[in-house]
Amino acid sequence: MNGQQPQHVVVVGAGMVGLSTAWFLQEHGVRVTVVDRDGVAAGSSWGNAGWLAPALTLPLPDPAILKSGILATLKPDSPVYVPFRPDPRLIRFLIGFARHCTPKKWDEAIAVFNRANAGALDAYDLLTEHSGPGRVEAPTTPAEPFLAAFASEADRDVLVKEFAHVAETGGTTSYELLDREAVHALEPGLGSAVQCGVRLHDQRFLNPGRFVHALADAVLARGGRVLDDHEVTAVEQRGNQVRVSGTQELIADAAVIASGSWLDRLVRPHGVRRVVQAGRGYSFTVHPDHVPAGPVYFPTQRVACTPLGKPEEGLRVAGMMEFRSPDAPLDPRRIKAIVDAATPMLGGVDWTRRTDEWVGSRPCTTDGLPLVGRTRSSRVHVAGGHGMWGIALGPLTGRILADQIAGAAEHELLGAFDPLR
Ligand SMILES: Cc1cc2nc3c(=O)[nH]c(=O)nc-3n(C[C@H](O)[C@H](O)[C@H](O)COP(=O)(O)OP(=O)(O)OC[C@H]3O[C@@H](n4cnc5c(N)ncnc54)[C@H](O)[C@@H]3O)c2cc1C
Repeated sequence: MNGQQPQHVVVVGAGMVGLSTAWFLQEHGVRVTVVDRDGVAAGSSWGNAGWLAPALTLPLPDPAILKSGILATLKPDSPVYVPFRPDPRLIRFLIGFARHCTPKKWDEAIAVFNRANAGALDAYDLLTEHSGPGRVEAPTTPAEPFLAAFASEADRDVLVKEFAHVAETGGTTSYELLDREAVHALEPGLGSAVQCGVRLHDQRFLNPGRFVHALADAVLARGGRVLDDHEVTAVEQRGNQVRVSGTQELIADAAVIASGSWLDRLVRPHGVRRVVQAGRGYSFTVHPDHVPAGPVYFPTQRVACTPLGKPEEGLRVAGMMEFRSPDAPLDPRRIKAIVDAATPMLGGVDWTRRTDEWVGSRPCTTDGLPLVGRTRSSRVHVAGGHGMWGIALGPLTGRILADQIAGAAEHELLGAFDPLR
């Protein structure tokens, strides 16, 4: 951008990442237009688990995934599912992903996440504690408690070892171990299969759909535009301007492409070669007799539970990682797999009374790191590829990218997140 701050930026994608970037651009006095082919929080930013949990915000390519066996991923009830079909793009992603599942690469990625996690919650506080019309009127809630629950101590050891590993790479996790009696006393809604637990400290959570809508309202309140039903087909740089074509043509000084799992097609012409693959997850709402006060995680079953607000709003139950097209329909077998896995771990639930069944796509990269920064076209920027952690890291992303676009600062994380890497 030759050190010149743009006056008007178009952001493609009204998810957590795009809207956060728009909000932080407004902090620099930049005029923003956010466009989405559907609407606010229409992608994976709606039905996710809403955890702002630095303790668990770790890179996806984990050596343990390879150890647990690639063959297991072909079973439809496996928590990580890869449909067996000859899709060259998916094969390219899987080969790249497998290459990053080594202990060395995992350590390198954890070190980056440690640095990102250190600033993630502060970026949220800037949104919710802002004074004036730009304040986001939705809470982030301290998780009191945030529990991980297990059917055996051997299962628990896996998570505890992971925390020890994070500590070796410079991170810190504050937690305590709970025996059967203590974990059930803390969370009476747990099922009889739960034998022990871990209580995590200093974590938060939110209702993601509600938060992202409040974020859009804040962008609007500061004079931004948010356009629904606006599909973008191409983003081109022409001299000192950017042309965003699609439902309607828009001209701006710069563009940010934040289109989640649909990132590839729009960013490819700007030199971004990394594949972004949809890691689809599922969720639904249930109304247990006792709605837990905070998030409950069943790591062995890979199931995440989050209270949605007041007890009558119920509990979101989420899980699965299905590497498949983001546009494929919801597969009811995955919902059943989550129900089967969670049933022994959570009591007092009528699992037939599910509402809001949902599938969404985590935008996954092969190295587990987001793509944030400028592309080969100096006025076209990327914000995406956060995989499992775009809610936790969305505001931080918006903050550091807006600083870069406005010419205010080059955050050191942008090196690791470089979309041209
Ligand atoms: C089951 C599940 C649980 C999860 N739990 C958590 C969690 O607890 N914590 C956490 O941090 N993360 C979690 N995630 C991950 C998180 O949801 C994602 O990383 C995050 O929502 C990505 O945000 P985004 O803004 O990049 O993408 P999205 O929210 O998908 O937004 C992209 C937007 O771009 C729009 N779009 C796409 N193409 C175009 C186009 N051509 N023109 C115009 N608009 C377009 C889409 O309509 C969409 O609204 C979870 C995900 C799943 C599936």
